[in-house]
Amino acid sequence: MHYAEIADIYEKIEATTKRLEMTDLLVQLVKKTPRDLIDRVVYLTQGKLYPDFVNLEIGVAERLAIRALARASGWPEEKIEENIKQSGDIGETAQKFIEMKRQITFFQQPLTVNRVYDTLDKMARATGSGAVDMKTALLAGLLSDAKPKEAKYIMRTVTGSLRLGVADMTVLDALAIAYGGSKEARELIERAYNISSDLGRVARVLAYEGIEGIKRFHVIVGNPIRPMLAERLSSPEEILEKLGGKCIAEYKYDGERVQAHKKGDEVTLFSRRLENITDQYPDAVKLLRTHVKAEEAILEGECVAIDPETGEMQPFQELMHRRRKYGVEKAMEDYPVSLFMFDALYVDGKDLTLEPYPVRRRFLEEVIEESERIKIAKSIITGDVKELETFFLEAIEDGCEGLVCKSIHGDSVYQAGARGWLWIKYKRDYKSEMTDTVDLAVVGAFYGRGKRAGTYGSLLLAAYNPENDTFETVTKCGTGFTDEDLMKLPELMKKHVVEHKHARVNSLIEADVWFEPAVVIEVLGAEITLSPIHTCAMDLVRKGCGLAIRFPRFTGNYRLDKAAEDATTVNEIAEMYQRQLKKIAEV
Ligand code: AMP
Repeated sequence: MHYAEIADIYEKIEATTKRLEMTDLLVQLVKKTPRDLIDRVVYLTQGKLYPDFVNLEIGVAERLAIRALARASGWPEEKIEENIKQSGDIGETAQKFIEMKRQITFFQQPLTVNRVYDTLDKMARATGSGAVDMKTALLAGLLSDAKPKEAKYIMRTVTGSLRLGVADMTVLDALAIAYGGSKEARELIERAYNISSDLGRVARVLAYEGIEGIKRFHVIVGNPIRPMLAERLSSPEEILEKLGGKCIAEYKYDGERVQAHKKGDEVTLFSRRLENITDQYPDAVKLLRTHVKAEEAILEGECVAIDPETGEMQPFQELMHRRRKYGVEKAMEDYPVSLFMFDALYVDGKDLTLEPYPVRRRFLEEVIEESERIKIAKSIITGDVKELETFFLEAIEDGCEGLVCKSIHGDSVYQAGARGWLWIKYKRDYKSEMTDTVDLAVVGAFYGRGKRAGTYGSLLLAAYNPENDTFETVTKCGTGFTDEDLMKLPELMKKHVVEHKHARVNSLIEADVWFEPAVVIEVLGAEITLSPIHTCAMDLVRKGCGLAIRFPRFTGNYRLDKAAEDATTVNEIAEMYQRQLKKIAEV
């Protein structure tokens, strides 16, 4: 097949804005394409050489493209550059300069699709010191044999500016019409795409095996599955009703979604957008390699930044420090991650995507050996509105965004690539941001682990309630302490240790060590939230709930000038909560 045939159709596709016409043109193209080329043609039509999850790009900078065009056309680079400034399109400029070619190429070979594809593939794979020269020579060679129109599309393809506007779904429509015909075929083809993310592979199977082959299509370790997405509702009543009265509610962790593909010792991680992000998370890779008890598996989970000292979850922004190509080792130390797994899509030869969620979760539980750093998403099964609400507040306080409530019925399959009502997220539509610091009394402590063994890992802090003369817990704080603070804390607190919870302390949490309220420290948090666990302002804002400070950080100030009774009062905290309560934009 000649590349000119493709270029002709590209030109027509470019001229239309109607999706139906575009589909017709693609159907023509698909029908014209010999089956051994169909995957290549499909990728090329989208300006690519491979499916998105393959980490290879043609990667030609404008400079290099101009040099190759100069070589092929015999015109100086400056002239070409000038023309690009006018046209604003390197493709058009290439078309023009190939038309005005100064030297005639004898024995011009017509370009075949295979030659174009193979050359671009070589360019994509060229690495190392000679790569730029090699790419320039390869591109110049192609352009020398190209007709003006072909040059236009080759140039746009290599510089990543083809943009015919052919969406994945339009290609699927065209494939269905060309090979399948029926509406049922369209659905099967789309599912094949959703579980492989590879239009080329779908097209190839259709071309060789027809719709029967698509029916046999299955997931493969290494081909990412397009993620299932959640709908959203804002009340537990609605959620339970929608999910048939009962559901499994899971913590909605606030991190980055990862789809892990494991084959033996090899682990690949894909992002929600199906980019290969394996290199960003060597620690997560290692966790999966050592804690997944299956030869082959495709599992999903959320990768969350944690405080290296306390093991507590950090807000999503902290994870952004891990989005880097260089200095990964250092970033890994400063911003370690934990994994919270929530789905199993494939385990040792078994495609689970059409199994109901309880079955998939059972597989997940069997396959994951939990540890400090890799866990299965915390969950409850419930049909009770109150229980759901309480679990939601716990999730928020623990640093999560809310809950994802999932159907547990027989039809609760993994809806690859779709947003549906089998998963419903429950997030807050308000937020109470903290701008001021608070002074809190230290009423208890928890022993540290790891680097903090032998000292305290975090402190239980309380606000003062002058009406009852009690101290009501409002947060657990383990962040912001220097090594020096940690050394001197046990010493500083020693004289205040009491055997049991102090009579004036009102706490539902069991601390490892209790103190009489005496020492006050200054703390800044991210926000104040409702809490079923902390007793501060209990029942004041909502029945059965207290208030808590989320993501607290010690500012470094010991308020030695303050007595415990001078700590921020529970009413002040309630006021801060009310005052700062503001609607945030619906996400
Ligand atoms: P959203 O991004 O707000 O549409 O919420 C969906 C995202 O929540 C998913 O893509 C996951 O990254 C994330 N998530 C966190 N915890 C869970 C969980 N337990 N189940 C499913 N998704 C979760």
